[in-house]
Amino acid sequence: MRACIHRGSKQIGGSCVEIESCGQRLLVDFGLPLDAEENYSQYLPKIRGLDGSDPFLLGVLISHPHLDHFGLLAHISQKIPVGMGAAARRILEAAAPFMPGNWPTPPEGWNYRSGQSFDIGPFCVTPFLVDHSAYDAYALQIKSDGKSIFYTGDFRSHGRKAALFERLTANPPQSIDTMLLEGSSLGRIADSQQFPTEKEIENHLVHVFSTTEGLALIHTSGQNIDQIVSIFRASKRTGRKLIIDLYTAAILEATGNNNLPQSVWSDVALYVPHSQRVQIKENAWFDLLKRHSANRIFIEHLQQVSKKSTLLFRPLHRFDLERGECLSGATYIYSQWEGYWEQGSYDMVKDWLERHSIPKFSIHTSGHASPSELKKLVSAISPLNVVPIHSFFPEKYPELFPNVEAHNDGEWWEV
Ligand SMILES: [Zn+2]
Repeated sequence: MRACIHRGSKQIGGSCVEIESCGQRLLVDFGLPLDAEENYSQYLPKIRGLDGSDPFLLGVLISHPHLDHFGLLAHISQKIPVGMGAAARRILEAAAPFMPGNWPTPPEGWNYRSGQSFDIGPFCVTPFLVDHSAYDAYALQIKSDGKSIFYTGDFRSHGRKAALFERLTANPPQSIDTMLLEGSSLGRIADSQQFPTEKEIENHLVHVFSTTEGLALIHTSGQNIDQIVSIFRASKRTGRKLIIDLYTAAILEATGNNNLPQSVWSDVALYVPHSQRVQIKENAWFDLLKRHSANRIFIEHLQQVSKKSTLLFRPLHRFDLERGECLSGATYIYSQWEGYWEQGSYDMVKDWLERHSIPKFSIHTSGHASPSELKKLVSAISPLNVVPIHSFFPEKYPELFPNVEAHNDGEWWEV
């Protein structure tokens, strides 16, 4: 078996690995680089058969529904089958109508079930559900030719699904030759530092919500389900209802998990911002709207409910909130990667907050394993070698892990 990292040996984002055995090939992840300005085909790695003309390209296996792992699927033939979690697939389908431009909806292929192996040509694939900020995320074991690769994808053990990490490290896959190990946290935090747990995030939110007089605005990704659960629980603990928009309602429904907050729950409300009302009209999404309207509130109610509500904020809410005159005593909590804020992605929000004298807090935890969480997984699996991927600091790997074997983008090696 041979492998090649097309992108990701020295960067976070745009991950793509190709694996070959007996002349047949699989791609593992097919992501858009994080610094890509648009979802353009110019970011496609040079791989034979992306137009669907090569029967030896057997398929693409996606680890989880984050753009930097699946975003380039929009540019390849729909004839190439795609593997991913069934819930992840539903989430991408539910998100697609709300997204601008080249948002891919993956063609059929394989739906993962954690721990259940399946064959693709000469490969035997076993997915392992992991704790990550994307819902339905997997690590993948790929066996062929008597060799075995373990691709970690993105993972952590401080989220709401920490038990999955405990299970994997207590009962790890055996005889792994090569472990492709994500290292997003390396160089970002000290080797001994830990990220806060989602439980700690929840407690921190409780503190801010309970000292907020008016509406609590919290800016997070509608697809960071763990984080939405923390927000929902903190809202409940402080007597607040969680107000979501139609996009978030559709994503929560797509998880197919009735233990997660849903638009029909009595402590959840739906507010549809103006720009989404336009989209609904243009695209006739009346069934979707109806399904989520059990607890719908309108702009004239926002002021009245503001003291008892948490609103999952998206930048498109700014004009509605102004018109609803519901910002007195509001706080804004930024709950995403700090880099987006620093790079200026939300400068329009920054100006808006200043204009309305709304204080800003940052409460967030990483979707990625800390160095010590990474070490735990490596020592549990004990692979023959560790190959850096999804890190800006591959040179730090040998300080932390044994048997590191770094490979450059585009370089093939024998596993
Ligand atoms: Zn991810």
